[in-house]
Amino acid sequence: MIFLATKRLQAPAARAPHFSFALMLAPLFAVLVAASCIAEERACGPDALGVSRVVDIDRSKGTAIGLQTYPRTLDLHDHEVILTFDDGPAGPTPQVLDALAKECARVTFFLIGRNAESLPALVKRAGAEGHTIGHHSYSHPDKTLRLMSESAAKADIEKGIAAVDKALGAKAAPFFRFPGFADTHELVADLTSRGYTVFGSDLWASDWAKMTPKAELDLVLSRLEKNRKGIVLFHDAQEITAQMLPEFLRELKKRGYSLVHIRPGDAPTPIVDAGPNWTSTTEPIIAKTLGPKAKLAPQTNGRGAQDEAPKSGEPRGE
Ligand SMILES: [Zn+2]
Repeated sequence: MIFLATKRLQAPAARAPHFSFALMLAPLFAVLVAASCIAEERACGPDALGVSRVVDIDRSKGTAIGLQTYPRTLDLHDHEVILTFDDGPAGPTPQVLDALAKECARVTFFLIGRNAESLPALVKRAGAEGHTIGHHSYSHPDKTLRLMSESAAKADIEKGIAAVDKALGAKAAPFFRFPGFADTHELVADLTSRGYTVFGSDLWASDWAKMTPKAELDLVLSRLEKNRKGIVLFHDAQEITAQMLPEFLRELKKRGYSLVHIRPGDAPTPIVDAGPNWTSTTEPIIAKTLGPKAKLAPQTNGRGAQDEAPKSGEPRGE
């Protein structure tokens, strides 16, 4: 980055003497960039969690990932984690951002459009601090997008995208997570055809349940030790998550986990398919919460009906 910046300023200067002022500034610019990088390293120190690597999510080819909902996920190495936070920006979000900054950690936020309208400064802050900003609908409807008409669901998604982009002051990542994981084949197909990657999760912290921050910490760590890697779902709107996050990040470092940061890019998304015995974790929960009317219609290709069938053997609704 320093090399490129210097080179860009030097090239015209060699041909045009009036660019000599720019040439004089180039070393200063390089020093400033280097100083800010060093400052960040110093601020965190070698003991900080940091980011071990950045993975491109192909912005030209959408897909749907996260084993709790889809039969494929990101191809991570053992002990690699991706942290994601839903439902913000909200009251506890600054505390979450502070904890992440202290560890030089980078994560992905799936924002509710309505919240982004109310708290645009937090959206800008999250973006400015290097986090990836994705979408999570405009209104996070209680009935879920699945139980809305397709046109109403699409309108809610689009309104959310526009609200987040406006608050961010730039185009957010083409990343989407369905509220309650309640997708439909049509909505997933529409989003992925437009280059959006739909995110489920590989494990979650259950931070919507009533528990202490310590209980959440123990729970998510035990799930992580079982999975050994994956896309982890939290909610930055949850106070308990904001409270337990500093210790969770310290524990990740202590236990030898490394943090992967995802962002839209041009390289193919590294995908690994689930095994033949894969079943959805979220479909039985959605069926239990919303009733038989929320069942996905059978589909013969992509996510097959066979894959969707909950273990409970409940009849598949229309
Ligand atoms: Zn949500």
